[in-house]
Amino acid sequence: MPFDLSGRIALVTGGASGIGEATCYTLASAGALVYVADRELDGAERVAAAIRSAGGQSAAMRVDVTVESDCAEAADTVTAAHKRLDVLVNNAGIGHVGTIHQTTGADLDRLYTVNVRGVFNMTKAFIPGMIARHAGAIVNTASIGGIIGIKDRLAYCTTKFAVVGLTKCLALDHAMDGIRVNCVCPGRVETPFVKQRLKEYPDPEAAYREMAATQAIGRMGTPEEIAASILYLASDEAAFITGSALIIDGGWSAGT
Ligand code: NAD
Repeated sequence: MPFDLSGRIALVTGGASGIGEATCYTLASAGALVYVADRELDGAERVAAAIRSAGGQSAAMRVDVTVESDCAEAADTVTAAHKRLDVLVNNAGIGHVGTIHQTTGADLDRLYTVNVRGVFNMTKAFIPGMIARHAGAIVNTASIGGIIGIKDRLAYCTTKFAVVGLTKCLALDHAMDGIRVNCVCPGRVETPFVKQRLKEYPDPEAAYREMAATQAIGRMGTPEEIAASILYLASDEAAFITGSALIIDGGWSAGT
């Protein structure tokens, strides 16, 4: 069976909502035991319980990816229970709307701390175990805003370009350690993250239509469509893929 993760241990950050939540369900359906890691423990527990009630294996953990000791504790917990982590999905991220005029230094630092340091912290915590076993797949959630600039998204794009760079450097540094590192670059995906952004516009309905029209195919993506690509990159079918930034944007950037 393709994309089979039976017997694999996976951890998804930001697993309590949106793309992360869909990724937890998709990886669990493929047979993985999934740790749902999120700073919102209630949400993580809800997702883990849904997986278990569908017959899968899952546990929730409270992890704030910006806190190094949380990341180290997560690695200790997973290693103590299973002696390994096969798949790490660094998905937790936050957004911000604004040009440089509407972006404070504190906004930029906040986004950098979650979107970049968060990926760095989790990878630093788990990669020694992967190196020791000479195996592992890491998938980071970047964005199409890590490939092309987006108007009014100064801080967000800055951090997502950094996630693409981090992905490529990790891939090069650890290719001979048996570890693959890739990222997905979604266009607009209808999640609580985007719904929150829409509230920041004076006319949210007009903004919704405009956001949908940004994609060449005229709609936003679904969390499940992004999760399917994350599963692919995590699976053995992607054994020859490392350092890739997979664009899943409904054609948004096709003309650029
Ligand atoms: P979401 O807001 O629905 O979910 C994000 C989850 O991350 C939440 O459960 C939140 O609690 C968690 N989180 C936030 N900060 C955290 C932290 N410090 N530690 C642990 N967990 C934390 O968002 P989403 O739309 O599913 O986005 C997920 C990822 O996809 C983000 O990295 C985002 O930048 C990226 N992305 C989203 C879109 C989109 O259109 N939705 C497009 C491209 C990329």
